[in-house]
Amino acid sequence: DSFESFNLSKQLHYAIDDLKFEKPTPIQSAAFSVVLSGRDVVGIAQTGTGKTLAYMLPILHELKFSKQVTPRILILVPTRELVIQVVEKIESFAKYINLRVLGVYGEANINLQHQAIAQGTDIIVGTPGRLYELVVTRALKLKAIKKLVIDEVDVMLDLGFRFQLANIFELLPERRQNIMFSATMTDDVAMLIEDYFIEPAKVSV
Ligand code: AMP
Repeated sequence: DSFESFNLSKQLHYAIDDLKFEKPTPIQSAAFSVVLSGRDVVGIAQTGTGKTLAYMLPILHELKFSKQVTPRILILVPTRELVIQVVEKIESFAKYINLRVLGVYGEANINLQHQAIAQGTDIIVGTPGRLYELVVTRALKLKAIKKLVIDEVDVMLDLGFRFQLANIFELLPERRQNIMFSATMTDDVAMLIEDYFIEPAKVSV
């Protein structure tokens, strides 16, 4: 398999070349067209398999330039470290395509995050705790979210974020695509899918 088969824009190819990735990993090949189809997706993949790009490439492929202030893509990850990693990865693409990304997590200054949100972003990446706080205090509006990605859901639920996740789900527009990745399919993960996903396609490697 090759990245050429994804029919990506040349800008996305430049970014992939910069990252020195020669071909898609199995999860990237398996997930690309499924995520692009717009269906809800449940991916079972371990860390290190390339799952970040597996959801990111189809999303970036589709994302159109906009000056809209409220974000259209929400990516939830369990830890601050992961927020930083995902934002960095998206920024390596933002060099070539016109997109704005913002990372939010606890322990960072919330007033600065309010200002950054007010400036506008296309993609917001955050931990569920801080993201929920920003929504509850009305600093962040989720009404324009078209795609929700939850990465490492099993870890997130083990950390006790079920309440925040459930509340965030309730505030999202009904018409949206849900994408999740988990290393394992636990009962808690299955319950979350049951409650919020619509006939998800399953992708695993
Ligand atoms: P992830 O599972 O998304 O955390 O990715 C694990 C590691 O694999 C990261 O260091 C990625 O930068 C790297 N990676 C992702 N996709 C590819 C690829 N297609 N070829 C080579 N390395 C990759």
